Amino acid sequence: MNDKVDDCIFCQIVAGDIPSRTVYEDDTVLAFLDANPLARGHTLVIPKAHHERVGDMPGDVAEAVFAAVNDLTPAVEAAVDAPASTVAFNNGEAAGQEVPHAHCHIVPRFDDDGGRP
Ligand code: 5GP
Ligand code: ZN
Repeated sequence: MNDKVDDCIFCQIVAGDIPSRTVYEDDTVLAFLDANPLARGHTLVIPKAHHERVGDMPGDVAEAVFAAVNDLTPAVEAAVDAPASTVAFNNGEAAGQEVPHAHCHIVPRFDDDGGRP
């Protein structure tokens, strides 16, 4: 278990030091609405413990995160009546990862919404 990293925005959200709109929570995983959504319902799914990248999470943590993504994706789509979604990790800075705490984006997608997020 990696301890809270004080200057990590997502660790501060897990700790309740920065407010967020919780979508789902269990002992291992937190899902919350993205503050700058690419589409209505844009949700982030993160391990509560600080792990920087996919591949850094221990297997049980990765299982819990992916299980939550699996369960939440259809629920997020249904909540905003989206026919599809982009489900993605930006993994590393060169890939666009700005927050160095692993997170999966669930971005609802709509017909003719202008291409990939
Ligand atoms: P990345 O570019 O690292 O894959 O995505 C980081 C995401 O975190 C962005 O979509 C950004 O809008 C979101 N984000 C950054 N800071 C905050 C915050 O303080 N609260 C919430 N809810 N989302 C945030
Ligand atoms: Zn963190």
